Amino acid sequence: MATVGSVTRQIAALEISSKQNTTATKTTRSTHQKQGSQTSNTVSKLLTKFAAPNPPSSKTIRPQTSNSSLSRLPTTGQAGASSSNKAFKAPAPLSREPTQPSIDIGRYDGGLEYDEENRGKKVYGQAAEELALDSSVIEHQPTREWHLTDFDIGRPLGKGKFGRVYMVRTKCEPKYIVALKTLYKSEIIESRVEKQIRREIEIQQNLRHPHILRLYGYFHDEKRIFLMLEFAGKGELYKQLSKHGCFTEKRSSRYIDQMADALDYLHSKHVIHRDIKPENLLLGINGDLKIGDFGWSVHAPGNRRTTMCGTLDYLPPEMIEGKEHSKEVDLWALGVLTYEFLVGCAPFEERTHNETYKRIMRVDLRIPSRVSPDAADLIVKLLQHEPYKRIPLPEVRKHPWIMKYRSRSSNPQPQ
Ligand code: ATP
Ligand code: MG
Repeated sequence: MATVGSVTRQIAALEISSKQNTTATKTTRSTHQKQGSQTSNTVSKLLTKFAAPNPPSSKTIRPQTSNSSLSRLPTTGQAGASSSNKAFKAPAPLSREPTQPSIDIGRYDGGLEYDEENRGKKVYGQAAEELALDSSVIEHQPTREWHLTDFDIGRPLGKGKFGRVYMVRTKCEPKYIVALKTLYKSEIIESRVEKQIRREIEIQQNLRHPHILRLYGYFHDEKRIFLMLEFAGKGELYKQLSKHGCFTEKRSSRYIDQMADALDYLHSKHVIHRDIKPENLLLGINGDLKIGDFGWSVHAPGNRRTTMCGTLDYLPPEMIEGKEHSKEVDLWALGVLTYEFLVGCAPFEERTHNETYKRIMRVDLRIPSRVSPDAADLIVKLLQHEPYKRIPLPEVRKHPWIMKYRSRSSNPQPQ
């Protein structure tokens, strides 16, 4: 029988984009359509198997007006599937076959309408053009056209710098669950991060890895950009770390294995993350780690960068010195992360920035004796002052401390 983990991975691997269906205005290859119907069947089956009953939804955003082919597919009268509360019917019991997927997306708090009245302005001119982000018009892999009315909105997942994040479900079959992140364009412009946001979106859209949060698509209206993100069911890793103080060796080793795998993939695509830290990591529904924030990433084929960026505690010596830096900055951050998982604080943490800088520059590393010798060995091999001396990712993945805790069914070892 499939585990929740394998189901999550299968769902995550499924295309929600143009492979699903075509709209009247989009042309998609027939092979995609074929794949799409297989995909929807699989997802329906998978979700039905692990579905939880659905409570009546308090409200939906607006009446459904989308005329896309997806929204015309038959629905089963589930909570929120219709634009009217009256239309709600109790979901079919889980055991009855065939049932449609029914996952509890929780109660919507009206935050989007609240923000719409109290937040953000319309934007004009070049900035507006720059932020007219729509994945249905990407040249190589256009997604279907999405609108806010295509979703039933569920519980709030969090608040980001530029807007709220909600658990949502597509109204169309097979009713995907995604995290919908809103970004207010005028606030992006005020913070002068239009280019950074565009870059974050472009990078994330092109990545496909089990430990990198998937961006399925994006769309915009006059005031906002909406990102359809893979739903990280277990939330922020940082919260877990705060709750437990630190993680066990086994748990830390598993996360570092997954991180190394994801970073190796990013580097193979010439993407340097540059902002690895617990706050940027989420956990999938089966507890797998997901890299979720690409704000500081750079796509740098053969290119060495000199911009100072990232969080202080995770900065490598070469960035503090303002020297050229390359993908090895992520190896340093991986060492800091390993330490923080096991010890509960960053290795060079001090009261003032200046003192932290100094300790980083000296690689003034003090590993508590409770950390196992194997883990300490990996930390030391990652936290090398000279970037070229840092242990490469494929070797991290073969390190005894990683191998010791890797179960046979988890991430395969690199060749
Ligand atoms: P910040 O500066 O606070 O990190 P941000 O603009 O980067 O803000 P996010 O970190 O992406 O925003 O999102 C804010 C919160 O919403 C997260 O801390 C997390 O709790 C929740 N969240 C975001 N994306 C997801 C997701 N895909 N699945 C589940 N929860 C999410
Ligand atoms: Mg964030």
